[in-house]
Amino acid sequence: MDANSESTNGAAPPRPVFFFDIDNCLYPKNARVHDLMADLIDKYFATHLSLPWDDAVRLHREYYQNYGLAIEGLVRHHQIDPLEYNAKVDDALPLDGIIKPRDELKRLLADIDTSKVKLWLLTNAYVNHAKRVIRLLEVEEYFEGITYCDYSKTPLVCKPHPDMYLKAMKDSGVEKYEDCFFVDDSYGNCKASQELRWTTVHLVEEGVKAPRTPASKHQISDLEELRTTFPQFFRQQQD
Ligand SMILES: [Mg+2]
Repeated sequence: MDANSESTNGAAPPRPVFFFDIDNCLYPKNARVHDLMADLIDKYFATHLSLPWDDAVRLHREYYQNYGLAIEGLVRHHQIDPLEYNAKVDDALPLDGIIKPRDELKRLLADIDTSKVKLWLLTNAYVNHAKRVIRLLEVEEYFEGITYCDYSKTPLVCKPHPDMYLKAMKDSGVEKYEDCFFVDDSYGNCKASQELRWTTVHLVEEGVKAPRTPASKHQISDLEELRTTFPQFFRQQQD
């Protein structure tokens, strides 16, 4: 991994970067990880803020909508330690047996020509959860790096805040917005990245309600559609 050398040695033009969200993007929503996580977060709110259940659920939704991450509201308004929260929520998720390797995903990533594009993970999860999911999916080898939400630093920086996208660009060594490609299942994350002039793909799985106004230029229902949307990044058929 030498993110900087290619942009400074002048020999080859820098590769564009394709950023992949992880949760509900690299595995389908019907894995119900989101529901499991939401439940643990509701419990966390109820216990740590001593709230009745309905208030806990409501406040969780409110923070999620306002900040993109429930934890950001907890840090801002309740001085919660994000790493303790992470241990009780993300790291406590029973993911083994729920997130499994998928041949289609492995084939898709293997068919991408990494001499033409660099694959990079971009997640609002903390690094533990992100690495755990990628390991369970058995796709670590395809990505050259990861930009995650660092729960050990305040203020937290996460999607859809522009600073998170700029952090991802810096981490992955890409300088131009037009060299950034991105797929995410979150409307807000897609919209914000497109406003930065990234080329963004909103993943709206079948069975999930499509937004009235598309979040971004591209909208797909399956990651397989990346093959036809960005043929320039895939290996040519051999025969
Ligand atoms: Mg997601």
